[in-house]
Amino acid sequence: MQKYDYLIVGAGLYGSIFAYEMNKKGKKCLVIDKRDHIGGNIYCENIEGINVHKYGAHIFHTSNKEVWEYINQFCEFNNYINSPIANYKGEIYNLPFNMNTFNKLWGVRTPEEAKMKIEEQKKEFGIVEPKNFEEQAISLIGKDIYEKLIKGYTEKQWGRKATELPAFIIKRLPVRFIYDNNYFNDRYQGIPIGGYTKIIEKMLEGVEVKLDTNFFDNREYFERIAEKIVFTGMIDEFYDYKFGKLEYRSLRFETEVLNIENYQGNAVVNYTEREIPYTRIIEHKHFEFGKQEKTVITREYPSEWKEEDEPYYPVNDEKNNKLYEKYRELAEKEVNIIFGGRLGEYKYYDMDKVIERVWGNMKVLNIKD
Ligand code: UDP
Repeated sequence: MQKYDYLIVGAGLYGSIFAYEMNKKGKKCLVIDKRDHIGGNIYCENIEGINVHKYGAHIFHTSNKEVWEYINQFCEFNNYINSPIANYKGEIYNLPFNMNTFNKLWGVRTPEEAKMKIEEQKKEFGIVEPKNFEEQAISLIGKDIYEKLIKGYTEKQWGRKATELPAFIIKRLPVRFIYDNNYFNDRYQGIPIGGYTKIIEKMLEGVEVKLDTNFFDNREYFERIAEKIVFTGMIDEFYDYKFGKLEYRSLRFETEVLNIENYQGNAVVNYTEREIPYTRIIEHKHFEFGKQEKTVITREYPSEWKEEDEPYYPVNDEKNNKLYEKYRELAEKEVNIIFGGRLGEYKYYDMDKVIERVWGNMKVLNIKD
């Protein structure tokens, strides 16, 4: 009855890379996804000739040359560099936090002046060892930036007080004492020409894929048809929430086609004040230097995840990480099940890390050519 070597649950980046690699090795794979399309959250839909990132903007970036070369075999990347701007009550600031931001905020011109200003603000708070997100943020860039560009954005994004969030989240953003608006420190960066869906299509070429197919609707059957299962859905759901529910953040997207060529002059504009309910507006054409007559914009509203919503971000605070540990211990005892991706491993992974993770897991499995 075992028709497949691998049943892969979820046609997102993790599942598709896994399927691609296994298919190459001659393993028989079945990929299922409950959605009606492949690609998971990197799926793009073409609207008015523009690749719209349907589940939130994705910018590929990595410092790992092997990862960069790997992803480039599926698609050519353009030379887009992410430079979001922040709108705080109508004032515009450059991101990430760099000399342009410091100059606009304080009028400082040199790195030394900027550093002095930050030191001054840090001293006021007397933080020696940052214990949470708020303390970490203030000790990195001082109170003014924290209050104008971080606090409001973060509290609406995560729906939690900044003092209750883990410090690592803010470490995702660079702080620089040069005039450089590149959001990432990575060596390689870009957007796939033609959109992300093309990459996934290529990965899944020659692999059996069943869409509109929910693992949980037919669990017993799916557990019988393959020797091993790769599960990229929510790990707590897989175990029927037996230890309790992990928390996730969800997003609601409001997308509009506008009859103008250029709405905001940038792909990403963050709205950092608490009072505006969305965190950012994405103008998709700017990811691809689009010259279309119309434009497509998406407002991103964060919300707490509840059943029927899409889970986007794991909430890696202490409470949830502890609970996840229990699920991970169960997962580790499994012989024929591999958990992968943001939901399977309850980790705030970027795309390049997902690729590295598949490679890592394949090594553990000791799968040879
Ligand atoms: N962040 C912020 N202000 C900004 C942008 C980001 O305070 O204008 C903080 C916020 O806490 C956010 C975190 O930095 O959750 C990570 O931001 P990133 O852009 O990496 O988030 P993603 O694009 O993954 O949602």
